Amino acid sequence: MMGLPMRKRARFIALAMALLCLTFEAVAASDVRSVRLWRAPDNTRLVFDLSGPVQHSVFQLAAPNRIVIDVKGAKLATRLDQLALANTPITGVRSAQRTADELRVVIDLAKPVSPKSFTLAPNQQYGHRLVVDLFDDAPAPSTPVASAASKPPVPVTPTQAPQKLTPVPNGKRDVVIAIDAGHGGEDPGALSPVKGQYEKHVTLAIARELQRQINAERGFRGELVRTGDYFIPLRKRTEIARKKGADLFVSIHADAAPRSSAFGASVYALSDRGATSETARWLADAENQSDLIGGVGNVSLDDKDRMLAGVLLDLSMTASMSSSLNVGNKVLSNMGRVTSLHKRRVEQAGFMVLKSPDIPSILVETGFISNPNEAKKLATVSHQQALSRSIVTGVKQFFHENPPPGTYIAYLRDSGQIAMGPREHVVSSGESLALIAQRYQVPLSTLRSTNSLKNDVIKVGQKLQIPATSLAAQP
Ligand SMILES: [Zn+2]
Repeated sequence: MMGLPMRKRARFIALAMALLCLTFEAVAASDVRSVRLWRAPDNTRLVFDLSGPVQHSVFQLAAPNRIVIDVKGAKLATRLDQLALANTPITGVRSAQRTADELRVVIDLAKPVSPKSFTLAPNQQYGHRLVVDLFDDAPAPSTPVASAASKPPVPVTPTQAPQKLTPVPNGKRDVVIAIDAGHGGEDPGALSPVKGQYEKHVTLAIARELQRQINAERGFRGELVRTGDYFIPLRKRTEIARKKGADLFVSIHADAAPRSSAFGASVYALSDRGATSETARWLADAENQSDLIGGVGNVSLDDKDRMLAGVLLDLSMTASMSSSLNVGNKVLSNMGRVTSLHKRRVEQAGFMVLKSPDIPSILVETGFISNPNEAKKLATVSHQQALSRSIVTGVKQFFHENPPPGTYIAYLRDSGQIAMGPREHVVSSGESLALIAQRYQVPLSTLRSTNSLKNDVIKVGQKLQIPATSLAAQP
């Protein structure tokens, strides 16, 4: 708003705030420098890279189906005929310069879509952008029981969610692990000193390996939240996990730090302890910004902390905090066997303000992609396998101890078919020795003698050795 006389300024600000979508009069024409296209399972994203801000409008026309994008203050400085349109509803992209500074882009479509568009301010990686998301229209319902003729002869137990019905023995469902590969599409995540390596690719590779290993475990199923190179808003990620019936949400990331020597893996979980005022501010900020970070408005994606805050905030909305910490500890200690740890403890952000949790959630920073050595390691299949193996081991330990009711793992444990090795338990407030003995299914007397206890008095924070349980000792 440079150059406006003072008396006009106040009126101008009021007007600008009321009509955010109106452009500034004096905006010089911006160039559309490139157009990028990302295909997601349910939408196609077009990103116009611009040399400056623009005003735009989007409308849809039928017969033939097409989307018209008018961009005021823009000139086309790239080609549109090189976009990979395979697997998208787009059959062609054309353009016309309507006036010196009004560009019209027409997207020809095989079928109608629901368009949504917004602009993004510059960040570390990109300049001004115009984003047009084309959502595939909702397909006809295709649930297995939709048609009477195709109903299975065996009645479906109504208490089980359809997405959790799996062919494990005895009608017991799998434990479902939602695996969230961080970032994606035009959000590359952290940048690596290794040329061409982005966090989004590393996270997807590890997520896929993790899924492969989880699916190889009887009674477990891994579900990918992101299956390709496209962006998913944060809230949508937990929504996808919930739809897949997740018992655990694991978000995979790779860290970055200004100091290239920083290294090691970390695990984040939520805390039920007090939030510092700094955290509270961070949270409030994230709350206000999270939808914007998710790519639905004007915010840059460059602030790693804010990104992380957004992820954690989102996780926290649905997270079982103590379970998250528990599974986080198991994952971290197993990861410590295959890679260096950045922090020896599961990190917590003190998200005390958070509400009724239902899916335990952890965020795993697999290492520092900003560290040249660690970046190289993270790119190797053997290291990705080792990291995944350690995460799976931690996840399995957690679910063997805490199997969700109705799962095959719960059935195994209840029928004494899971033999547990020796473990350590840290006493939390409200726990008694008898309760702990019951929880681990070990006789109270054995728990007492293993820990050389003279009586049943225990203190919060005290470490107890839980003896191995043999199959024979179980009821
Ligand atoms: Zn990340």
